[in-house]
Amino acid sequence: NEKKIREMEKLSIVGELAAGVAHEIRNPLTSIKGFTQIIKENINDEKLKEYLSIMLDDLDRISNIVNEFMFISKPKETMEIKQIEINMLISNVIHFMEPQSNLKSICVSTDFDKTIVAQCDPNQLKQVLINLLQNAIEASSDNKNIEVLLKEIDDHFYMIQITDNGCGMSSERQKRLFEPFYTTKEKGTGLGLMMCKRIIETHNGTIDVKSKERLGTVVKIVLPLSRERI
Ligand code: ADP
Ligand code: MG
Repeated sequence: NEKKIREMEKLSIVGELAAGVAHEIRNPLTSIKGFTQIIKENINDEKLKEYLSIMLDDLDRISNIVNEFMFISKPKETMEIKQIEINMLISNVIHFMEPQSNLKSICVSTDFDKTIVAQCDPNQLKQVLINLLQNAIEASSDNKNIEVLLKEIDDHFYMIQITDNGCGMSSERQKRLFEPFYTTKEKGTGLGLMMCKRIIETHNGTIDVKSKERLGTVVKIVLPLSRERI
């Protein structure tokens, strides 16, 4: 147990450092991307144009990784815990993801038991839901629907459950889900789920994935309703 606590502390220092470095890299990276784009548009040599395209793709990869690192959970003391209507937060995230779900004619529906007001860091929770919905959309073929369920469990906890009818995962793949840099996607970073887990755990919640190959995946998050339990 003490070993586990030490490991958690180490992870949180590494996380803090990574988030700080990511923040510093972001602005220069944006400028490099912008200028590379301009050069590509103003050059005639086909070979050089091709090199610049490769550079732009690689810059996109770096910026995806940097963006995910920026949201690696902050230490508890710097979390911004607020009183939030979770129904609203979920609806906002679904709306934010519409450009991606519409592209595949995927309907993301909600099943809200009742209005749930809970204390959390809203930006971090949003980031978790964006990542989970993105994974669900990426795993789904066209016209397959996704459902987000929100439910109170008892006086202290509530749950958010995201169900997709996508490609699902083998049990070998499921074992590796939360490993950093584990990805099966050509343009994936493999950091999304690790980041989700860290954020949920710093909220004193749990995240649990159940999946059947070719049938789909259910991700269940349980979170405390109030600050006293975070
Ligand atoms: P990334 O999305 O960048 O690959 P993640 O950490 O978000 O990284 O996910 C890791 C891997 O877990 C994915 O590459 C994919 O193989 C698998 N995965 C995650 N969510 C799902 C899902 N809803 N359905 C099927 N596979 C999934
Ligand atoms: Mg992902």
